[in-house]
Amino acid sequence: MRKKIVAGNWKMNLNLNEGAQLVNEIFKSLPALNSHKQVVIAPPYLHLTQTASQLAGMDDVSLGAQNCHHEASGAYTGEVAASMLKSADVSYVIIGHSERREYFKEDDAMLAKKVNQALINEIQVIFCCGEPLEIRDAGTMNQYVESQVKAGLFHLSADQFKNIVIAYEPIWAIGTGRTATSAQAQDMHAHIRSVVAAQYGAAIADDTSILYGGSCKPSNAVELFACPDVDGGLIGGAALKASDFIGIIQAM
Ligand code: PEP
Repeated sequence: MRKKIVAGNWKMNLNLNEGAQLVNEIFKSLPALNSHKQVVIAPPYLHLTQTASQLAGMDDVSLGAQNCHHEASGAYTGEVAASMLKSADVSYVIIGHSERREYFKEDDAMLAKKVNQALINEIQVIFCCGEPLEIRDAGTMNQYVESQVKAGLFHLSADQFKNIVIAYEPIWAIGTGRTATSAQAQDMHAHIRSVVAAQYGAAIADDTSILYGGSCKPSNAVELFACPDVDGGLIGGAALKASDFIGIIQAM
């Protein structure tokens, strides 16, 4: 049975004190979760060791990172390797977020290498895909997203693929307040699952968690998460406020 996951991506927000306080507030109201449900908190790199100590012993909440470098180590000033994330108890890493693709020019080949680095270091990948508005308007979103998924992930063996979570995040819905309708999300998630099934078989596709991201909040999470192929959410803005994040966890 695939996992339901709510993952909070703090992006470049909160100082160390604010981060520690947010985690404490989340803990205070965190509902009990069964073993098929997981919460992930992905703070900025600087927070990771602090957040790791706060999460120690909490099975329901895992530590995530927002990125990793595509090489194992070396002269890459300012960068962080997947092995370093592993040594800070990171269990998940977000790869291919549209902000990284756009502002840092991360292309398919680089993302595939980042995926490899994460898996070599036994870190699960939350692989982001999603189309810009002009592609949605042109009606070619299925092909667009399918090609991102194939280019970033389909070099993996079936065994490796079991460590992949996919996050569908239409770019026009990220941070805009404009959410995909539940029908739009369900259609794309079902398409992604069929693409995975064609490559890896129905059993692996059925076990793959596919999250929705893009202006998800407590008020729309219930409807989105009720879709059969939507297995939770990757949350940006609403992950920065404990009550909103808890509301979304409750929707899961
Ligand atoms: C994101 O950037 O992954 C995201 C989903 O952001 P927001 O929830 O703010 O739209």
